[in-house]
Amino acid sequence: MTDHLVKATAAGGRIRAVAVRTTGLVEEARKRHEMAPTAAAALGKALTGGLLLASTVRKQGRLNVRIAGGGPIGGIFVDAGTDGTVRGYVGNPEIDLPPNANGHLDVGGVVGQDGTLSVTYDLGVRPYSGTVQLVSGELGQDFAAYLGKSEQIPSAVSLGIWYDDGKVQSAGGFIVQLMPDAGDEIAERLEQAVLNAPFFTEMEMKKMSLTAILERVLQGFAVDIHQDDQEVKFDCHCNEERVLNAIRMLGEDEIRDMIQTDGKAEVRCHFCNEQYLVPKDELERLVS
Ligand code: ZN
Repeated sequence: MTDHLVKATAAGGRIRAVAVRTTGLVEEARKRHEMAPTAAAALGKALTGGLLLASTVRKQGRLNVRIAGGGPIGGIFVDAGTDGTVRGYVGNPEIDLPPNANGHLDVGGVVGQDGTLSVTYDLGVRPYSGTVQLVSGELGQDFAAYLGKSEQIPSAVSLGIWYDDGKVQSAGGFIVQLMPDAGDEIAERLEQAVLNAPFFTEMEMKKMSLTAILERVLQGFAVDIHQDDQEVKFDCHCNEERVLNAIRMLGEDEIRDMIQTDGKAEVRCHFCNEQYLVPKDELERLVS
């Protein structure tokens, strides 16, 4: 099944929920950045969380998530759009750890929990941002803490990765949010429903559709599915022209130095790890 995102409301709009499948794009990120399994799981959860956050934004635009937990992964950066595109990278893609006490990839261990999760929104108006302290570094709880504390929307976020046989077999997650006018009765029932819900990966392994997953998570509520086919994908907007512009900004002296010492420039995009080779004559054109 291809990567996509499904939005729903429940209890007459007092509950908002989104589920997303990101298996293909997380596997693409893992391959592009040549990542070890635990590092890939951490980036995969962050990419998925970024897409879920973007799906809750009403305006069109992008958001950046920066996670700095002090762990060996050395920080995670994600850029997600309301159009369903996402890209990202980590400080140390080769980092790996033995499984944690539950037998899962130790995402909390590579991310660390002594630090922050920050989100910056760029939605056509003045950019704004919020920061929270990390709760566990496992990222689902941390995204939920961000929404609860920074945006005052009580939220539950479940992020799951299943890595086996040398690749990402399943990735995705869901978010459930309580709207301000929901009232205590709905809040309590929702809390119970979310507590009783299986993990995303468990439902995914049973080959449940995203719609079925949302209905399971919101069991006991009348669920309205809004949109069942928004595509999500790994997408980087780097290209040769942007690379040349970046080199031009280094200034004439620096470029002349490159021409002299290397006779070329090698530029790697942080976000997608694409390598650009700029030959000597192109560099010369930048300073002529
Ligand atoms: Zn790129």
